[in-house]
Amino acid sequence: MILADPEFGEIIVRKNALSSSIKFSISTSGRLAMSVPKSTPNFLIKRFLNSSREQIRKKLPVKNPTTQRARDAKKKILEKKAKTYLPYRLDFWAKKYGYHYTRLRFSHANTRWGSCASTGTISLNIGLMNLPEPLRDYVILHELAHINHMDHSSSFWAEVARHDPHYKRHRKALKMFSPGV
Ligand SMILES: [Zn+2]
Repeated sequence: MILADPEFGEIIVRKNALSSSIKFSISTSGRLAMSVPKSTPNFLIKRFLNSSREQIRKKLPVKNPTTQRARDAKKKILEKKAKTYLPYRLDFWAKKYGYHYTRLRFSHANTRWGSCASTGTISLNIGLMNLPEPLRDYVILHELAHINHMDHSSSFWAEVARHDPHYKRHRKALKMFSPGV
């Protein structure tokens, strides 16, 4: 459940069967999150929030609601771009080098650019749209190479190198960017 609060912006409320008290934290998106016992009625959640404002202001770095909204809007645009571009690009490289993947998933993970499951599903982070093209292609070729090698063995890297001769440089440059959006 999401509570819209004039001071803290969107608050994520998680009803949790296991918790016995109300706890506040900051979610990965920078929003305030509340974990409450499953049976807590909404009016009590709001009352508790109101009586905890001072404590939250002091202890938790809630991002300003305007910043949250701006970031959400940016993320939406990025997602739209990713959904149009990445399937086309993945397909392009897969056809060119004869790879067969089952499906493409879009991810929003904060730490990974992409992954490849043994089922042949490739996940690509929408944050790839913020990267220069050679780095984006490197990530795609890296994940495609995992279809044949589910590890980072020397034969895996040899395959990456065949399709992206500058992969070492690209891999290093990638460390200057963060996948989180
Ligand atoms: Zn890998």
